Amino acid sequence: MHTRMLINGELLQGEGQALPVLDPASGEQIALVNEASQEQVDAAVRSAEEAFCSFARTTPAARSALLLDIAALIEAHGPELAALDSANVGKPWPSALDDELPLTVDSVRFFAGAARTLSGVAAGEYVARHTSLIRRDPLGPIAAIAPWNYPLMMAAWKLAAPLAAGCSVVLKPSEVTPLSTLRLAELLQDVVPKGVVNLINGAGASVGDRLVNAAGIEGISITGSPATGAAAMRAASRQLRQVHLELGGKAPVIVFADADIEKLLATLRATAFFNAGQDCAQPCRLLVADAVYERVVAGLAEAAASIRTGSQREAGTEMGPLVSEAHRQRVAGFVERARGRAEVVAGGYAEDRPGFFYRPTVVANVDPDAEIATCEIFGPVVSVSRFGEGQDPVAIANAGRYGLASSVWTRDNGRAMDATSRLRYGFTWVNTHGVATPEMPWAAMKGSGHGCDMSVFALDAYTAVRHVMFAHG
Ligand code: NAD
Repeated sequence: MHTRMLINGELLQGEGQALPVLDPASGEQIALVNEASQEQVDAAVRSAEEAFCSFARTTPAARSALLLDIAALIEAHGPELAALDSANVGKPWPSALDDELPLTVDSVRFFAGAARTLSGVAAGEYVARHTSLIRRDPLGPIAAIAPWNYPLMMAAWKLAAPLAAGCSVVLKPSEVTPLSTLRLAELLQDVVPKGVVNLINGAGASVGDRLVNAAGIEGISITGSPATGAAAMRAASRQLRQVHLELGGKAPVIVFADADIEKLLATLRATAFFNAGQDCAQPCRLLVADAVYERVVAGLAEAAASIRTGSQREAGTEMGPLVSEAHRQRVAGFVERARGRAEVVAGGYAEDRPGFFYRPTVVANVDPDAEIATCEIFGPVVSVSRFGEGQDPVAIANAGRYGLASSVWTRDNGRAMDATSRLRYGFTWVNTHGVATPEMPWAAMKGSGHGCDMSVFALDAYTAVRHVMFAHG
């Protein structure tokens, strides 16, 4: 098992506490991985600071070539990396290999291209006898923190955009699922200049906290929960650092009476329980027009009940376990507190087998203000609420704290245009849900953060706009 970190170009064992890494499908330990010591965190930051000066001055073409090399490495070692994510998160093996890996590789390739799109603004004389240039320059060393749900893909997103922009990075994966990132550390050692990428392991409260508070860091980029986002903003406020946050979500799915219900149900079956619902864009909060409500609830309950759970390599497995026992209890807690006030029409229980399995669950007749409809559960649980004539589902959706993904289902383009223009979410799908492409922003608003991963707009978090003025004489 690969458990060494990459610090200043060297592969090093952590000198901090040993943390167990589990297989969620069996509950058994698959590795013990040491955290970085505080001194190792500081060494990684120092290394990123030193590397920044030269890396920031590389040409876009050189950075593009580096990213293409990284993409090729990930692709060449794809099955091995996907196997680590599958074992460590409990993902069905085909999902890790065929659904996630291609987007991970393609995202890195996209940023190889995006590196070459960076440009300043044309020069001009805004003061007589003075010429102004506007430059867009790399921000500085970046502290990047990733979550546990898509370990390799999140590591790739957190590395590729800053590297494209010319920033060095210290990346910390989740201590719950560090294995694919640690293997990536070994692969990157041969292709990345010393110090440009440092990969360290450890828990949020120890290593993460030390990293985001380090004086040598200029930008903090977090994908994680709102609580971690708030911790990063506190750290940034102490040193006046730039922060980019991609946080939790609670995606509303607005279903108008004229929607294609068969397509809706097929999409929800494929996406609401994907990765056991541990997905920030998971379609989990249905707002359904009265006229089609009963049909949607019945169809969704049937779809959820038909999903086959199992361990990673079991033939036919469609959904794996939750990532940990603590998380399973948290998910179950939401469902238990909803009982009595709403109707559990599918699932709603932990499976009686080893590992952290929880049945795909549908809770109907949910008050749109209820806890289960407004808080991120991050598990295979979907709530269904109805809306009637005279009620505005967009206003109901906008009342939530989150602002990441959303979708609208209708055959009426005017209605779709109106709803999408008023939704206060970073991204909205119409008549689909969950389709991602690196060219388009994975954008956050409100309590889900700000800025975006993917697309050329992701480079904003890692670049500074600068003005240079020349006096003519
Ligand atoms: P988490 O916030 O618990 O952990 C995320 C990362 O932050 C981990 O690496 C963790 O060690 C670190 N961390 C925790 N406390 C920290 C602190 N005080 N200082 C520095 N680092 C700290 O989140 P999670 O449970 O790993 O992931 C689930 C969350 O991530 C959900 O809310 C989910 O919606 C969100 N997420 C968002 C996106 C997105 O694109 N918006 C994508 C995936 C996951």
